[in-house]
Amino acid sequence: QAAQPGGDTIFGKIVRKEIPVNFLYEDDQCVAFNDVAPQAPIHILVVPKKPIAQLSKAEESDSALLGHLMIVAKKCAEQAGLSKGYRIIINDGADGGQSVYHIHIHVLGGRQMGWPPA
Ligand code: 5GP
Repeated sequence: QAAQPGGDTIFGKIVRKEIPVNFLYEDDQCVAFNDVAPQAPIHILVVPKKPIAQLSKAEESDSALLGHLMIVAKKCAEQAGLSKGYRIIINDGADGGQSVYHIHIHVLGGRQMGWPPA
């Protein structure tokens, strides 16, 4: 996985179903699945089918899609039983710690989160 903006990514292959992944959720705009390297007991990724590289590349016309991803993220948290709360993260760019340049929301829960994040 190239940690650089631009081009296709592993998430592109996943949303196109070229790589089989167990989707926790799917609709016409996005999918959700478990992170391969979970950082918490629950670690779900919500990924749009549209390959926006990163939040800072999103456009005004993506507003409805981005809002939809947030609603799907909270539905996934509910479905996972995270009734005591959870954390939503979008990493952007090098300093944000982004490694896959296809925008995604992390849903992390099942343990107490620290603040500030490292
Ligand atoms: P980022 O660092 O870009 O915000 O997050 C990328 C996330 O994708 C990481 O948490 C990483 O573990 C996860 N990831 C990378 N490759 C795969 C994969 O092939 N399958 C799944 N399920 N998760 C992946």
